[in-house]
Amino acid sequence: MSGWVVVTGAGGFIGGHLVADLLRRGERHVRAVDRKPLDEWHQVYDGVDNVVADLSRREPCRQVCEGASRVYQLAADMGGMGFIETHKADCMLSVLTSTHMLVAARDQRVERFFYASSACVYAADKQTDYRVTALREEDAYPAMAEDGYGWEKLFTERMCRHFREDFGLETRVARYHNVYGPLGTWEGGREKAPAAICRKVVEAKLSGERSIEIWGNGEQTRSFMYVDDCVEGTQRIADGTCADPLNLGSSELVSINQLVSLVEEIAGVRLTRYYAPDAPVGVAGRNSDNTRLREATGWEPSVSLRHGLERTYKWVHDAYLRRYGGRLGPRAAAPRGAHAQNR
Ligand code: NAD
Repeated sequence: MSGWVVVTGAGGFIGGHLVADLLRRGERHVRAVDRKPLDEWHQVYDGVDNVVADLSRREPCRQVCEGASRVYQLAADMGGMGFIETHKADCMLSVLTSTHMLVAARDQRVERFFYASSACVYAADKQTDYRVTALREEDAYPAMAEDGYGWEKLFTERMCRHFREDFGLETRVARYHNVYGPLGTWEGGREKAPAAICRKVVEAKLSGERSIEIWGNGEQTRSFMYVDDCVEGTQRIADGTCADPLNLGSSELVSINQLVSLVEEIAGVRLTRYYAPDAPVGVAGRNSDNTRLREATGWEPSVSLRHGLERTYKWVHDAYLRRYGGRLGPRAAAPRGAHAQNR
C-alpha cells in the first residue's frame, strides 16, 4: 500500500491491537492518532507516526489524512453499559469525529475508509428475549438503535454509504459485537463486562470477601469476540468487496452468569453472587448472525470464549497487581441507581 495507513483511536483498546497487526503485516507507513496523551495509550510502537490530536475538529482531521491511502476510523467516545447509558450526548458528539474524518478522507482522495460501527445499531425490539435469534444485518431497520451511542453509529454508517455513492469514497463498515481481550480498559467506569468481571474476581481473591456484584439478574445474553478475531475480521472487511455493513462478532452465546462461572473456573474460585437489578444492562439478549460475513470474507471469528478469557484474566490480574502492588485498588464507583440485593 502506498501512502499512510491511518488508525484513529489508536491509543484505545482495538486501535492499539490494529496498529500492532499492521506492523506484523509489514506495513511501514502507519500513522496512529488519538486525543489522549501518549502515556495513556494502551500500546505505543516505535517506527509509527504517533500523533496526539483531537479529531472532533476539522483541521486535525485534514492534517492526519494528508498523504493517506487508507483510514481506519475507530476514534469514538465509548465504554461499557455503565458509560453509554449515562453519557448519551458525549457518545453522540462522536459524530463530529466521524464527519470530519469522512470529509478529510474525501478531500485527500483516500482510497479506502473503514468505519468501526457497533451491534448497538440494532433495533431494541429485536433484543427483548434472553433466548435470542441472532441478529442479521437487515434487523437494524426500521431503526430503533441504542439511545445515544447506537444512533450515532447508525447515522455514521449511513454517511459512509452516501459518501461512497455521492463522492466515490470506498467505505467499509463492520458492526462489532462486544470485543474483549488484554490491553484494554479494566477499571474507571468505561470497562466492559468481560474486563469488569475479571477485575471483580481479582478483587474478590485479594480481599478474601469471596463475593461478586453482577449488574442486572445475570440472565442477559451476549456473544463476546476476542480482540485477535476482531482485528482479523477488520482487515478482511476493509480489504473486501462488500460495501454494506457486516456483523463482526462471535456467535458463541452466553449469559452474564455463565461468563462469571467461566472466569471463576479460570481463577480457581467460587464466589457468592449479589445482583444489582437497577444497574445499566442494555438489551436482554444479543447474538451475531455471521451468514453474510462468511459469504463476504470466507471467514468468521473462532477463538473460544474460554481461551480468550484465560488470556484476558491473566492480563487483568497482572495489570491489577502492577498498579496496586498486591493491595486492593479503589473500587469502581457504583453505577447510578444500582443497589445490590442481599446487601
Ligand atoms: P476505546 O475507548 O478503547 O478506544 C477509542 C479511542 O478513541 C480512545 O482511546 C479515545 O481517546 C479515542 N478518541 C475518542 N474521541 C477522539 C477524538 N475526538 N479524537 C481522537 N481520538 C479520540 O474503545 P475500543 O473498544 O477500542 O473501540 C474502538 C471502536 O470500536 C470505537 O469506535 C467503538 O465504538 C467501536 N466498538 C467497540 C466495541 C467493543 O466491544 N470494544 C464494540 C462495538 C464497537
